[in-house]
Amino acid sequence: MSDYDAIVVGAGIAGLGVASQLQQAGKKTLLLEMYPKAGGRMQSYELPGGYKVDIGLHMIEMGKKGYCHELGTRVGKEFEWAAFSVTLDLYDEGAWHDMQTYIQLTDEEKADFIELMKGIATLEEADFKAWDNRSFGEWLDKNGMTGNLREVWENMSMIMTTIPDVREQSAGECLYIAREALIKGRAVLIAAYPRGGMWGVIGPMVDAFQELGGKLELGARVEQVVFEGNRAVGVRVARKGANPIAREWRFVSTDLVTAPLVVLALPIWHLDKVLDFDREHSPLPGWWLKRIEDIRGERTGLLGYIIGTSRPLYERQVFMSALSSPRTGLPLQAFTPTAFDPGVAPDGRYLLVTDNVAEPWELEDKFNLGRLMEQHWEDVKEMYSFGEDEVDFALPYFTTGCDGLARKPGLTGDFKPDLQAPGVDGLYFAGDTYLGRGLAIEGASRSAILCVESILG
Ligand SMILES: Cc1cc2nc3c(=O)[nH]c(=O)nc-3n(C[C@H](O)[C@H](O)[C@H](O)COP(=O)(O)OP(=O)(O)OC[C@H]3O[C@@H](n4cnc5c(N)ncnc54)[C@H](O)[C@@H]3O)c2cc1C
Repeated sequence: MSDYDAIVVGAGIAGLGVASQLQQAGKKTLLLEMYPKAGGRMQSYELPGGYKVDIGLHMIEMGKKGYCHELGTRVGKEFEWAAFSVTLDLYDEGAWHDMQTYIQLTDEEKADFIELMKGIATLEEADFKAWDNRSFGEWLDKNGMTGNLREVWENMSMIMTTIPDVREQSAGECLYIAREALIKGRAVLIAAYPRGGMWGVIGPMVDAFQELGGKLELGARVEQVVFEGNRAVGVRVARKGANPIAREWRFVSTDLVTAPLVVLALPIWHLDKVLDFDREHSPLPGWWLKRIEDIRGERTGLLGYIIGTSRPLYERQVFMSALSSPRTGLPLQAFTPTAFDPGVAPDGRYLLVTDNVAEPWELEDKFNLGRLMEQHWEDVKEMYSFGEDEVDFALPYFTTGCDGLARKPGLTGDFKPDLQAPGVDGLYFAGDTYLGRGLAIEGASRSAILCVESILG
């Protein structure tokens, strides 16, 4: 007799989604999270004075028209969204421009552009598959994209993939994101901000799981998945304070919790912390272990600031980007959460969130990271014309595991690891690094839906 029907590891959006749906389907479910708070990479904080900030720049592609919203409604929660951002403001030659006036097409170019959009809107899964292993740069070349129009596409595909160079971006993924946005939002890229920031999604998901009767344990790090032969039968969990000398000497005391179903809702780069990758001892097949080892370093990186100010620095409800920042030379992304939801800052106070998209290796050297952070700060001051005396705080952040598996050619669509572990029973995966398309939170949410469909049949 097992302790639970299902154990889900990781309380990010994917884990919360899988756990809630399993609990709703009548499975007694335990959700284990190693941090003291749920949310994972959608973590958020309430700062003294009433600012509500996320761990970095976060908007959710598709908003109420997407898979993240669907995940909520499936378990009885309706997230509240601020207005969509359906256009993009671009920074070029020392000024911000709105996308429409920046492009300036002739009538003939406009007609061609509309035809191209119609073509994208009718693409099907087989078309994305055909482009999954080819670059978006190749697609732009094939469609004769040049000048400012190409620059706008390059800004959008950089935002879609968090990869600076179009030759490194998977065309299948960019075209999929563009098709969804065209069909659901009549624009190539749409994004929305949940009221209250990311907690506006994570908070209701935590409530849903607990209201359905699920058990959420925070501060509980899973050390390993336990197998009997070729069947997952539970996990070993390290609970805080179980071994008083563990912190100094890293001897970990664990408890065994059993269930016939284990779902690992954590990115593939954490799998070797919970699964034995030794070919002689692992119940998982060698080809699969090798594939995970080969691709787990394929990540994307960001560095940026969350800035609280006494004056609004940009009042349009838009996403902003630039292909090259003045000093760092890196692509920039930014938006002002308070333009979408003034409730995330105290009265008379405003938020701007910025980031530079970078290769992980540029950020892993802390001295290089320090230099880039300083340059980025000077860039931001110049681009938004503000003085240090107007700043309440500027919280620096960076990540080298931003939004899942880097969406490069050969790493999207069917190239992503499957949701069911091969060669063993009772082990599944969910999250942005597994099967599922779309921008990161959308991909993670869709994988949670597909994972549960696959488990429940
Ligand atoms: C700074 C930043 C900005 C981003 N901006 C955007 C954006 O604008 N739009 C967008 O769509 N996406 C964005 N993303 C990506 C998005 O946040 C992620 O794709 C999404 O949150 C992934 O969800 P997940 O559930 O798959 O994984 P995670 O959120 O990583 O959840 C995994 C969970 O597993 C837990 N865990 C790991 N190991 C263990 C263990 N051994 N035991 C117990 N628990 C464990 C972790 O603590 C974590 O809570 C951003 C990410 C970052 C970091």
